[in-house]
Amino acid sequence: MLGRFRRDKSEHMKRCWDAIVVGLGPAGAAAACELAEAGRRVLVLDGAPARAKPCGGCLSDRGLEALAWLEPPAWLREHPVRRLWIGFPGKSAAQYVSPRVGAWLVERARLDAWLAGRARQAGAEVLPARASRLSRENGLWQARGKDGAWRAPWLVLASGAGARLADALPGLEPGQWRFAALVSERPLPPGMEPYLRDAGLLELGGVAGGYGWAFGRGGVLNLGIAGLLGRDQGGPGGLHRRMEAFTRRLGLEPMGAPRGAMIPCPHRRRLVLAQGRAALVGDAAGLADPVLGEGIAQAVASGRMAARAILAGDLGLYQKRAEATLLRDHHHARLLARLIYRFPAAFHGLARRRPGGVELGFNWLRGELAPVDMWGALARGFLGRAPRLARFPGAYYSSPLD
Ligand SMILES: Cc1cc2nc3c(=O)[nH]c(=O)nc-3n(C[C@H](O)[C@H](O)[C@H](O)COP(=O)(O)OP(=O)(O)OC[C@H]3O[C@@H](n4cnc5c(N)ncnc54)[C@H](O)[C@@H]3O)c2cc1C
Repeated sequence: MLGRFRRDKSEHMKRCWDAIVVGLGPAGAAAACELAEAGRRVLVLDGAPARAKPCGGCLSDRGLEALAWLEPPAWLREHPVRRLWIGFPGKSAAQYVSPRVGAWLVERARLDAWLAGRARQAGAEVLPARASRLSRENGLWQARGKDGAWRAPWLVLASGAGARLADALPGLEPGQWRFAALVSERPLPPGMEPYLRDAGLLELGGVAGGYGWAFGRGGVLNLGIAGLLGRDQGGPGGLHRRMEAFTRRLGLEPMGAPRGAMIPCPHRRRLVLAQGRAALVGDAAGLADPVLGEGIAQAVASGRMAARAILAGDLGLYQKRAEATLLRDHHHARLLARLIYRFPAAFHGLARRRPGGVELGFNWLRGELAPVDMWGALARGFLGRAPRLARFPGAYYSSPLD
């Protein structure tokens, strides 16, 4: 009898944790690291921990900064972005060279594998299990998977975009402003290498409510497009056709089927990201940046913020901090995105006439300029009073888009 009681108790202990994190992308890994490093028993459930997330692999410099506490490996800094081409279909691209690096190009699968390893190293238990249902019983959160159920007083939902699990957490409201994005990778054609060395290319005007990108990461070319959901992309299959057209404008033939996914951003200033003892983080919270759809930095930041609030015993702190930082910034970023994607030709023209203004984008990527301060800076740019923030080539260069 006593043996059975002990067995039951140890089985119960095995399934009972201080916190459950669902999803081991950047958001879940950051939350798990923070909690486990503080000595909490953390269980991470991930249905596909080794999957390669479709991604441009562009980590802003502030994104790298957000990872600093995890002591990122040197390879994350192997492929810097110091130059930016801003293109527009049928027009020559403006090139801007920043004095300092704005972003880093990384292999996404490698980044995620490193983050997952960090979470394990910090002491989090990672189970390759898909949570199919979340519920609340006797004051504990319960995550149910194929092999059973796990319980904890705290729950962090980090299951990415499109996960329906959030529906089980009443009252929480993730961001719903979505980019539909397609990406493909191939060997970098030698002819493009000089254009894309230390550089990124963004094309405005080729996709409704969004942009196309080309990044050269070592010998790999990462090509993609992102367009706001609900904008006219030319009917069914329209986004794929736009991806093909963009690929051809770069002088390349479409190759293989691109991979796609949604990028969710905040649709308004106030979202409900935490309630009681449950929090949404990263893409599950819809926290990507509405201008570029950048989401790795935001996933790491929100995962860490939520974990810190759990350590303080009050997830309301996460809600407050997110409102004062990510949600405030994204509110202004969304207004800016509306402007850029409504008048892409004007912004391309601005980049050509005043390439120094592109430095504002670099300032943003480096976390030196809050989106709220972008307005004054842009107004000065349009009025011709933009400070010469940096030396720039001052001429239009032929680019892969010419
Ligand atoms: C095409 C494309 C290009 C992008 N390019 C960039 C870029 O260049 N730079 C940038 O910063 N951002 C980019 N993003 C956005 C970025 O990828 C996301 O914002 C980021 O991955 C969010 O991290 P996350 O941890 O919240 O979610 P994810 O990285 O999606 O991780 C979620 C995890 O949860 C797991 N999961 C899901 N459901 C369950 C379940 N039921 N049970 C258990 N586990 C589950 C998944 O297997 C996954 O591992 C891009 C997105 C797309 C689609």
